[in-house]
Amino acid sequence: MTIDINAAFDSGNIELVGISGDVVDLNIRHDAYSDFYQWFHFRAAGAQGRTLTFRILNAGGAAYAFGWPGYRARVSTDRREWRMADSDYADGVLRFTHRFDGDIAWFAYFAPYPMERHHDLIARIGACHGVSHRTLGRSLDGQPIDCLTLGTGPLSLWIYARQHPGESMAEWFVEGALEKLIDPGDAAARLLRDRATLHLVPNMNPDGSVRGHLRTNAAGVNLNREWHAPTPDRSPEVLAVRNAMDRTGVDWAIDVHGDEAIPANFLAGYEGIPSWTTAHGDRFYDYGRRLAARTPLFQTEKGYEKARPGQANLSMSTNQLAERFGAVSMTLEMPFKDHDPSPDPDHGWSPERSKALAHACLDTLAEVI
Ligand code: ZN
Repeated sequence: MTIDINAAFDSGNIELVGISGDVVDLNIRHDAYSDFYQWFHFRAAGAQGRTLTFRILNAGGAAYAFGWPGYRARVSTDRREWRMADSDYADGVLRFTHRFDGDIAWFAYFAPYPMERHHDLIARIGACHGVSHRTLGRSLDGQPIDCLTLGTGPLSLWIYARQHPGESMAEWFVEGALEKLIDPGDAAARLLRDRATLHLVPNMNPDGSVRGHLRTNAAGVNLNREWHAPTPDRSPEVLAVRNAMDRTGVDWAIDVHGDEAIPANFLAGYEGIPSWTTAHGDRFYDYGRRLAARTPLFQTEKGYEKARPGQANLSMSTNQLAERFGAVSMTLEMPFKDHDPSPDPDHGWSPERSKALAHACLDTLAEVI
């Protein structure tokens, strides 16, 4: 049998370099009009009974090559459960191995969140009592930027995900958040719906998602560097969401991401914005401390360096929203690797745990608002 490698599907990304015996050599495609690449997603067929080694030859030139050590590729045979494959990284090459019981298996950087599932989510949650749906705008390829809104309270709370489309854990997080928020028996959800109006944008970058990009939209633009001045030509996705935020105001915001290098969950805030005050910052730090006290899935020791006074990058959404609205505005980062404080040797950080973290984040929001 000939091994067949294919990535011609939603969020597929791989190029076959060559096959020699049981070794399959591959490269990851760049995001369109961009140097970024790291997301991969492909299937290998015709391999029943064989053990294949896949080598990603251009891993060393990826956007965050320092994230490969300690990382393990995800593999699935049913496209529902994604397990970690034996993987290692050396000399600029990421290598992983899979023993094929059946004919075919799928491989990805992280458990994918396909656009079909996105539309199923919009249909399922949008049909629930008390939930309204709006199309905020269109992407460059013409896809809808969907927003689900629920709650009746005066505070304005925004959760938006997948500015960086390869960070698929972000949409799993939003799915978990929505499932909790519509639960009539959940006391924290009821409190949030009473005190706030919640706007959730599950996928800000559907074009990059379909195209199998790591970090950019159809024009190769990093949406999280556009928030100071989004344009219809470069970043209509950001323009649509920011305009909607201008109409509602923003009191609390969570921008959901994945991080290549740090094997833990963490928050980044808005240190360095021009209007920074200790009181404003303390509300962010207080949230992080409470979240860490609530769940072993969160910690506050590991994270990004803080910007120095006046040095915040206002093209990033978290800083822009903190400055523009005085919001408590947070970037949430989840790992592509396993979660070291509570590892799962089979699945690593996973869709299920992304959803569990969303529940803890909402429980903590209910506590602070
Ligand atoms: Zn990101």
